[in-house]
Parts: sequence; C-alpha cells; structure tokens
Amino acid sequence: MSKLIYLDNAATTKTAPEVVEAMLPYFTEYYGNPSSVYSFAAQNKEVITQQREIIANALGAKTEEIYFTAGGSESDNWALKATAEAYGNKGKHIITTKIEHHAILHSAEYLEKRGYEVTYLDVDEYGVVKLDDLKAAIRPDTILISVMFANNEIGTIQPIKEIGEIAHEHGILFHTDAVQAFGQVPINVDECHIDMLSASGHKLNGPKGIGFLYIRKGVKIRSFVHGGAQERKRRAGTENVPGIVGIGTAIERAVRTMQERTKKETEVRDYLIKRVLEEIPYTRLNGHPTKRLPNNANFSFQFIEGESLLIRLDMKGICGSSGSACTSGSLDPSHVLLAIGLPHEIAHGSLRLTLNEEITKEDIDYVVDSLKEIVAYIRQMSPLYEDFLKKQK
Ligand SMILES: *Cc1c(COP(=O)(O)O)cnc(C)c1O
Repeated sequence: MSKLIYLDNAATTKTAPEVVEAMLPYFTEYYGNPSSVYSFAAQNKEVITQQREIIANALGAKTEEIYFTAGGSESDNWALKATAEAYGNKGKHIITTKIEHHAILHSAEYLEKRGYEVTYLDVDEYGVVKLDDLKAAIRPDTILISVMFANNEIGTIQPIKEIGEIAHEHGILFHTDAVQAFGQVPINVDECHIDMLSASGHKLNGPKGIGFLYIRKGVKIRSFVHGGAQERKRRAGTENVPGIVGIGTAIERAVRTMQERTKKETEVRDYLIKRVLEEIPYTRLNGHPTKRLPNNANFSFQFIEGESLLIRLDMKGICGSSGSACTSGSLDPSHVLLAIGLPHEIAHGSLRLTLNEEITKEDIDYVVDSLKEIVAYIRQMSPLYEDFLKKQK
C-alpha cells in the first residue's frame, strides 16, 4: 500500500516546507548563542524578538507577553502550577473542565495533592461548558479558571469570550489551552479577556518541541525553569532558535492561509461527516454540529472496537485515532467521550479523523469506502451485533 492518507492532524502535523527552509540556516549558519556579546550571535536576539512580534500580532498581544516554551504541555503545566503558587496566598481554588488535555488535568491533580482544590466542570452532550455551572463554581478563593479553547478529541469550540468575561468580572485569572484552536480560528486575547494562553508549534505545521505561553502583562507568575535570564527571567535555558524561527514562520503562515484553508477543510470535512452518517448505520457524530474545529470529525460506531478499526484502516494506508494519542494503548475509554455522556461500549467504538488542507474529496471517498467495508466486516464478527440483529427481527 503506497497511498498514505494522513487524518491525524490533531496529533501532529507535517512541518510546512517553508517552515523547514526558514529554520535550516539557524542550525548551520547562525548557530550562535543569543546571549553571547559578539554580533554574530547577538543578531539572533533580534530574530527571536521578530518571531515574538509575529506571534503577538496574531493574538492582539504585546511582544513582551510571549514566552517560548518546549511545547503545549510545558505551557499548560507552567500556567497552572506557577500561577497556583504565585496566587496561593489569595486562594487555593481552581476551576477547569472534565474534557481538558492531560497536560491540564494531570497538573490539576498534582496541585490537588498539594493542598489546592479543583472543580472539574461538566460539559453538555456536545462538549460545551455550561456558563451557569461556571458561575456557580466561582468562590471567593478561586484564583484561576482554565478552559480549553477547542477540544482535541471532539473539536468542540468553547464560548471563550463569555467565559473570559465571567472570569474578568470576578477578578479571576483566565487561562486557555489554545493548542488546537490557534491557527484554525481567529483569537484576540483582549476581546476574550484571556490572561494566559498555551500554544504549540507542531499542531500548526511548525516543528515539535517548541511552543509558547502568552502571559498578560501584570499577571504574577513564578519562573518555571530556573537558570539564566532568558525569557525575561521566567524560563531559563538557551533559546531554541531554529524552533522559534519555525514556530514564528508557521504562525505567520497559519494566519495568512487561515481563511482559505479552513473554508476548504470545512467543506471536505462536512462531506466526510455527511457520507459517514448517511452510509454507515448505527453511527453518531461526537461534538458540536457547527461549533467545532474546521478539520475535526469524531464518530462512534456501535458494535465496533476502536483499536481494531484503526489497525484495519492502517492496512489501507489511512491514519486515524481512537482518542488522544497519549491514551491510545490504554483500554480506558476517552475521558472526553465519557464526559459528553457516551456509554463505555459506544465510546470504545470511536474514531477521530482530523484533516489538513491537502485532503481532497477523492481522498474522503476512499476513506469512507474503506470504512464502510471495515465496519461491516468487524460487525459481522461481533456477537453483540448478531444479538442486536436477532432482536430487531
Ligand atoms: C497536543 C496538545 C497539547 C500538548 O502539546 P505538546 O506540544 O504536544 O506538548 C496540549 N493541549 C492540547 C489541546 C493538545 O492538543
């Protein structure tokens, strides 16, 4: 099978050729340490500032509010743990949701073991946070609200502006994990009252191992890595100059192509959703029908085991996911699918397909035709399906 149809862009994306090209000289030619005094190296400082500026502009932020990290997980850890520590004397209560990425959930659990209290908000059947629940969860000692911009599994986009307003009215810090949303939907940190925002290079056609945390000026946050004076003394370590150039170039590209790219992706994705729901019986779409990321489709097939579906798709050169990459391999159903109310057996039969701009309707035809065949094959071997058919008669 020579054909490869990559439909796992929520796990990671291809680094765009123009991004690789922009990065290369910073490995081979301009390899100096930006902290050195001679101009050969010091010019890299300027380059880093330029990238910060590109990113700040994309968010409506200020250049000095962008802090480079080693990716989305680090940004999430930093945002939660270091604000918890900095504001711990004001209160020890944090609000987040049940559908966050594990970088948030496990950081929250870490804090719980250290005397903080965390409220994990429920979501509705589409994966949307209920604003009344959020308001009800706020206490005098609440110091931080962290709600992801868009979910990595089901693609649901949250009412971030409304959440930001609620946080702002109560004088509570608001962090959002925008790793999936940034580059796919326009984001303005002021309009949404966002105080901190996490993003990652490799989710938007940039390199792996680089990300940033936006930190609004005035937010007290502890240093996450101690050492040198890099990143305004908040995150030590020699800068990943090629990575920084990579993420800056990727973000510039993502902003420039956003409108056209997401329009195309939405169209192809809707075609995928339509064909799957119409042609494969006992199937549901997970997530919100319209408030979802342009590239995300997530289905549950009754009487199917997600892993065997993935293996058979792989044999046809199709890359998909049964949940988030981090939990693949474990037998627990996805916490996100359980949070939207799916029973275990339905959650187990789930498939996430996330597109990129190169995927065409012809690719989707091949994928749906393959899916139909595989689903029918697996069901035909399922005793549960057999029982179900008998009862139907
Ligand atoms: C991928 C992802 C992360 C982690 O980002 P890394 O750069 O891989 O560490 C965090 N949050 C969400 C929503 C993600 O999709």
